[in-house]
Amino acid sequence: MKAAVYRGKGLLSVEDVPRPDPPVEDEVQVRVTRAAVCGTDSAEWDHGPLLTIPPVILGHEFTGIVDSIGPSVTGFSPGDRVVAGAGVSCGECEWCSSGRTNLCSSYQTLGLQIDGGLADYVNAPASTLMLVPDDVSDDEAALAQPQSVAMHAVRRSGVAPEEVCVVLGAGGIGAFIISAARARGVGQLIALDIDAERLETAARLGASKTVDVSGVDLVEAIRAATSPDGPHVIIEATGAPHAPAACFEAVRKGGRVLLVGLQGAPREIDLFALTVREVEVTTTLAHVFAEDLADSLEVLRTTDLFDVVVDRVIGLDQLVDEAIRPMAERRAKGKIVVDLTR
Ligand SMILES: [Zn+2]
Ligand SMILES: [Zn+2]
Repeated sequence: MKAAVYRGKGLLSVEDVPRPDPPVEDEVQVRVTRAAVCGTDSAEWDHGPLLTIPPVILGHEFTGIVDSIGPSVTGFSPGDRVVAGAGVSCGECEWCSSGRTNLCSSYQTLGLQIDGGLADYVNAPASTLMLVPDDVSDDEAALAQPQSVAMHAVRRSGVAPEEVCVVLGAGGIGAFIISAARARGVGQLIALDIDAERLETAARLGASKTVDVSGVDLVEAIRAATSPDGPHVIIEATGAPHAPAACFEAVRKGGRVLLVGLQGAPREIDLFALTVREVEVTTTLAHVFAEDLADSLEVLRTTDLFDVVVDRVIGLDQLVDEAIRPMAERRAKGKIVVDLTR
C-alpha cells in the first residue's frame, strides 16, 4: 500500500509499504478515504522530530471504511464509515478514570507516535473510532479531529453564550475554534488576525466582528473591539511571543485567558497584575474523545465548515509539494485534505 512515511526533519516521502497485519484483539483495520493535513505534520517535516517517533506513518486526522475487525471488537462491522479521534488512551490510569483521557499517562496518537492515516490502510483501536453519520460526507469527516480539538479548547475556556469572547488568530486551529464557539452559542465573538483572508473566513464561520490588528497595539485593539473593561474570555490561538502578555492585560477583571497557541520559548509575564485582577489562565491539549468528537461531527453535519476552511483536496502523491511544504512556508491558505481514493 502507499503511505506517507516520516523519517525525520525534511524526510517525508510517499512509499510502498506492507499493508498492516490483520487486526488483532480490539483493533480495526480501516481503509482510509480522506486524511487532512495538520500544521503539526508540516512542523515535523520542517523542524522535527517534535512529537513523533520516526519512522512513522503520519496522519492523525482521518476517516475511512472498516475493512476488518479484531476478535474482541464490538460496535463496528466491515463497511461502516468511521472517523478517528487518533488519541490512544489506556482507560485505567488516574486521568482516564476521571474522564481526562487526553492526559492519559500512556497517551499516544496515531500518526505521531504510532502509524497513522496518511496511508491506504491503518490499524486503530476500536476505542479511537466513531461511526460517521450518513449526512456527513467523507470530505467533512476528515475535519472531525481538528474540529474536536477546537470543541475541547472552547469547552476548556468555559465561555458562556452571553459572554464576550475574543479569538486571537483566525488561521489554522483558530478557524475551528471560531466555529466551535459559534456552535456553543457565543453571540459576541470577535476574531483578531493580521491577515484579511483569514478574517474573511472568520466572518463566514460566524464571528460577529473581525479586526485586522496588523501594526496596532494588541491591548488597545482588544479593548477598542470590546469595551474599556475588556472581554470576558480571550482565546489565544497564535502562539506569537507577545500574545499571552497582551491577553492577560486586555482581558476583563476576573476574566479568563485560554492558551491554545504553543510558545516556542519561556516568556516574561507580569504575574502581579494577573493576581490582583483575578485573571484565570487555562490551557488545553488535544481533545477528549468521549465528549468532543460527537459534538464535532454535529458541527460538521449542521454547518458548511468544509466549504469555508478547506483550500484544496489533493492526492497522496502531492502531499509534500502541495501541502507540507506550502504549509511550512506559510503559503497555504486553508486546510488541505488528501483523498486516498484517488
Ligand atoms: Zn493536528
Ligand atoms: Zn490512561
